[in-house]
Amino acid sequence: VTTWWARHAWLGGNATAAGVVLEAEAGRFTRVDPGVAAPPAGARVLEGLTLPGFANAHSHAFHRALRARTHDRPGSFWSWRDLMYEVADRLDPDGYRRLARAVYAEMALAGYTAVGEFHYLHHGPGGVPYDDPNQMGLALVEAAAEAGIRITLLDTCYLRGDVDTPLAGVQRRFGDAGVDGWVERVSGLTEIDGAAIGAAIHSVRAVDAKAAAVVSAWAGDRAAPLHAHVSEQRREHETSVKRCGRTPLQLLDRAGALGPAFTAVHGTHFDEKDVERLAAAGGGCCACPTTERDLGDGIGPFAALAAAGVRLCLGSDSHAVVDPLEEARALEVDGRASGERRGVFTPDALLRAATVDGMAALGWDSGRLAPGTRADFVVVGLDGARTAGCDPGQAATAVFAATAADVTDVVVGGRPVVEAGHHRTVGDVVGALSAAVGAVVG
Ligand SMILES: [Zn+2]
Repeated sequence: VTTWWARHAWLGGNATAAGVVLEAEAGRFTRVDPGVAAPPAGARVLEGLTLPGFANAHSHAFHRALRARTHDRPGSFWSWRDLMYEVADRLDPDGYRRLARAVYAEMALAGYTAVGEFHYLHHGPGGVPYDDPNQMGLALVEAAAEAGIRITLLDTCYLRGDVDTPLAGVQRRFGDAGVDGWVERVSGLTEIDGAAIGAAIHSVRAVDAKAAAVVSAWAGDRAAPLHAHVSEQRREHETSVKRCGRTPLQLLDRAGALGPAFTAVHGTHFDEKDVERLAAAGGGCCACPTTERDLGDGIGPFAALAAAGVRLCLGSDSHAVVDPLEEARALEVDGRASGERRGVFTPDALLRAATVDGMAALGWDSGRLAPGTRADFVVVGLDGARTAGCDPGQAATAVFAATAADVTDVVVGGRPVVEAGHHRTVGDVVGALSAAVGAVVG
C-alpha cells in the first residue's frame, strides 16, 4: 500500500479540497479522504494541486516531427498533409518506436497518463506488410510502455485516398487488403498486455460505408472504443453532403458506428442535426483545439455539443502543442472568441473533459481521484510565476493559470513516472526528442 497526502486536490467541482489522503494498492485507489489536516505517518507529501491523470484522446505520434516546421508558407490542412506524408514515408518500425517513445515521454512530463493513438501507418514502403503485419502498432505499444503511460491503440482502417480514388504514394502504407484484411490483421492484436485495443475509421473519405459497417461491428463485438475523424474540414463535410446527400456523421450512423463507445474526432463542421444525432446515440466528441487552430480548421460547436449532452474529451492530435491544460482552456477561450461570451464551460467541465471523460473514450476506468479507480494522478506546482498569487482552493487555478510546464509529478497505476519534473525511465526526454525527430526530418 502506498500513501500520499495532497495539500490540495481536485475531487470534482469548481473548488478543490485541502489535505487529501490518497492510498493505492495493486494500481488502484483504495482510499481518498479529504480534510486530513496533517500527513499520516509514512505518507509522501504532494505539494501543489493534485489532479487525476490527463487523457490524450487523440494522437498521431509521428506528427510531432512537423512541429514549427510548416509555418513559413500559406496553406491549409491539405498542404500541411503533404508535408506530413513526407515524414510518414521515412518511418520504419524502429524509428517509429523511438519517435513515439520520446513523444509519449513528452506527454508524461506534461501530465498525460493515457494516450489514444489513432494509428494508420501500418505497412512498409509500397504497402508491403512487415513480417509481423502489426509491427508498427506493436512499436507504439512498446513506446508507451517505455514512457510509462497507458495506450489505447486505435487501429485505423484506411482503404482509399478519397471517394473513388485509390490509395497512392505513401498512403499505400496505410491500407490493408480490403476491410477483411484489416479485420484479420487487427484480430491478431487482442492478446497484448498492458494496452487496450480499439478501432478507428479514418474518415468517410478513406473508408466506404460497407467497410465502415464491418469495422463498427468488430468494435461492437468486443465492446472496444471506436473513433473516427468526422467533419474536421469544411471541404470534407460539404463534399459528403454533395456527393452522398448525407453528412459524414449520417454516413457513420447508417454504418452502425454510433453508440456510447463511439467518439467523433473534431466535429468542427457539424450541423445542428449532427449534434442532435450524436447526443441521441450517446456518443462522445474529441476536440483537438490546439491542432484545429494550428491547421486553420475552424472552431467546432463544442458548446452546443455539451448543451445537447455529448461527452467531450480532448486530444493533442498533431502535437503542435503538448499541454493538457492549454487544450482544456482552449475549449472555453476559443469559444469565447467565436461566441462573444464568457463562461460557457466551468473549470469543472473543462477538467472532466481532460480527465475522466477522455479516459472513458479510451476505455480506461481512470481520470477520477476515487476509490476503485486506477491510481493515475498528476501534481501541478503552485510555486511558479504563472500560478503565484492564484487561489489553490479554485480548480480554475489549474485550468486558467497553469501550463504543462508546471506539472511536477506524474503517477500511473500507483507508480511514479515523473518526479520533480524528471522522467524516471526515459531520463533525457529533450535528447530523445531531438534525436528521434532529427532522424526523420533529415
Ligand atoms: Zn487526427
